[in-house]
Amino acid sequence: PPRSDVHYFGAGPAPLPTSVLERASQALLSYKDSGVGLCEISHRSGDANQILADAKAAMTTLLDIPEDYEILFLQGGGSGEFSAVVYHMVSLWVEKRRIRAQEDLTVAIADGKTEGPLEQKVFQRLKQEVDEELKLDYLVTGSWSLKASQEAARLVGAPHVNVALDARTENDGQFGIIPPESTWKLTARTREGGPGSAMVYFCDNETVDGVEFPSFPESLQACPEDAVDDDAPMVIADMSSNFISRKVDVSKYSVIFGGAQKNVGNAGVTIVIVKKSLLPPTANLAKPDLLRKLNLPVGPIVFDWPTIAKNNSLYNTLPIFDVWIAGQVMADLVQTCGSKKIAGQQEVSDEKAKLLYGTLDRYPQVYRVVPHQSVRSRMNICFRVAGGDEQKEKAFLAGAEKRGLMGLKGHRSVGGIRASNYNAVTLDSAKLLAKYLEDFAQGV
Ligand code: PLP
Repeated sequence: PPRSDVHYFGAGPAPLPTSVLERASQALLSYKDSGVGLCEISHRSGDANQILADAKAAMTTLLDIPEDYEILFLQGGGSGEFSAVVYHMVSLWVEKRRIRAQEDLTVAIADGKTEGPLEQKVFQRLKQEVDEELKLDYLVTGSWSLKASQEAARLVGAPHVNVALDARTENDGQFGIIPPESTWKLTARTREGGPGSAMVYFCDNETVDGVEFPSFPESLQACPEDAVDDDAPMVIADMSSNFISRKVDVSKYSVIFGGAQKNVGNAGVTIVIVKKSLLPPTANLAKPDLLRKLNLPVGPIVFDWPTIAKNNSLYNTLPIFDVWIAGQVMADLVQTCGSKKIAGQQEVSDEKAKLLYGTLDRYPQVYRVVPHQSVRSRMNICFRVAGGDEQKEKAFLAGAEKRGLMGLKGHRSVGGIRASNYNAVTLDSAKLLAKYLEDFAQGV
């Protein structure tokens, strides 16, 4: 069928605006009428640099990203950042602790309270602190934050991972709720002589389970003005599947990251928004030799944010076509949203989500939305048909396909139905889906 007859609700890779794809097909053949296609030009050319600068500018405008944040483009997907986050935050934590230990012990030796050699003493104290106190806090609210926490455990060892919240425990072993903040078991924030946990990590929107944080969890205190000298934990958020779909106060985060392939662009490029004070020259990072001696991981250079930042995301070959797509998607949003910026897109996203959930809720005898009302994702609408009856769900999907409503099958790990409501899904497509939901429920 022609593209115009298909309404695609896939979870990622996900639909892209047709207008962007039309421009892309031309750019692939001949970028700016040069006779050379966009996948063929050097990532170090002037054109490539301009594409990168334009994409950053559009993102900065849309999300009001403050000047003290750096935008990085990398490869490796959201999963690559599960690891990069750990490498970087552990390195920052270790170096802060090392500096503190060095200062304390220098004074202690000068005062005759202990004996040198200083370097050995510092290492002993650091080793003990790493063994006993290095913690990475994870809020596990769905499959992706679970995976991120598992990657942290694989890299640094399970004792260093503090699952401050496992949302399954009070929900029959299933994801679908976010228990109150008062129940989260975050590592104590401050401590005499250094930071507490190296970071607090959460996934803003859980793509598989349809669980979205309604807003910034306020008990994770805002990223302090100078996070390096402060003992507050770093707040890290995975926004892979709700990037640029609502207003975000970027200043509350140390790091926001996401793969492009849902709301922003196509698979192949990952975006990291990181507070500059967490990068050199402001921040000090532990030297690889020290990390190795402490049995802590040293990450691959392509995931090393300081290296990527220093090289304007061009340390190695960046897929410029992917950056161009993301840039075009965001530049179009800047145009259509006007002065409302991303709040303009948020209105549309909310309207579509309200329409679909509203329709599902009208037929409780047929549909059951999986996550609790308070944490329903605006992006990934997960529900069961006829209590999860396999034949009925198959029939639902087959009927949908007949109407050109595609990509509605739930993630293989949880089953059911998932309608992904990303930015490129038009209001018209959402209305057609709502109509099908009604017709199916009424047995039409
Ligand atoms: N985080 C979230 C919320 C996701 O939805 C996904 C993928 O769907 C990932 C991380 C992993 O991304 P990638 O496949 O790009 O590694």
